[in-house]
Amino acid sequence: MLMLLIEDDPTIARELSLRWQGRGWQLQWAATLCAARAALAQPGLFDLLLLDLGLPDGNGMDLLAELRRSDPRTPVMVLTARDQVADRVQGLRQGADDYLVKPFAAEELDARVEGLLRRSGQTLGARVSFGDLHWLGDEGRACLGDQTLELSPREFEVLGLLLRRAPRLCPKRVLIEALSERNLEINDSAAEVYISRLRRRLLGSNVTIRTLRGFGYQLTLDDGGTA
Ligand code: CA
Repeated sequence: MLMLLIEDDPTIARELSLRWQGRGWQLQWAATLCAARAALAQPGLFDLLLLDLGLPDGNGMDLLAELRRSDPRTPVMVLTARDQVADRVQGLRQGADDYLVKPFAAEELDARVEGLLRRSGQTLGARVSFGDLHWLGDEGRACLGDQTLELSPREFEVLGLLLRRAPRLCPKRVLIEALSERNLEINDSAAEVYISRLRRRLLGSNVTIRTLRGFGYQLTLDDGGTA
């Protein structure tokens, strides 16, 4: 798991990153909105965002609104000293998934983060659609429009991973790690092979797999497509 902490208090950043090391959660720290925008320039890199509202160069709520225009899915947990109901309601309306008022107990934050990660895993679970493409995890098949695609089990898994992140980027290491968690050991070049096979199967549809060299893969919707 890779999280982005957008927070100007270095003590919180240090404590959280030490605390989460033991759980295998990696924390990247941005102390300003400007640093956060730079970190978020590469879409789909983070599994979760922790967002403070009072930042030296502006209001975290503005960043949240910007983010939600392009990325409705990445879970966002707002951390703030503002405990007015109106602030909380505004945060949730703008697309925050949860809200924790400072000072908070680290155990409570852990539990809430676990809950968000679990929920994002589940909502992205059984059935996902993107353009003409439908991935039916519960039926073990994927289709383009109403036509079932002929996929090997690994191609099916790779496609599911790409779809669950779409339109965000799926980093190559995430793809390889996720497949090895499912006991489907693959290496770098095998990943390329699955991607190029999937790309061929998607020809003629409105969904394309883009390769972002050095980063990973991304499903994109073609406006001029068939849908
Ligand atoms: Ca602050």
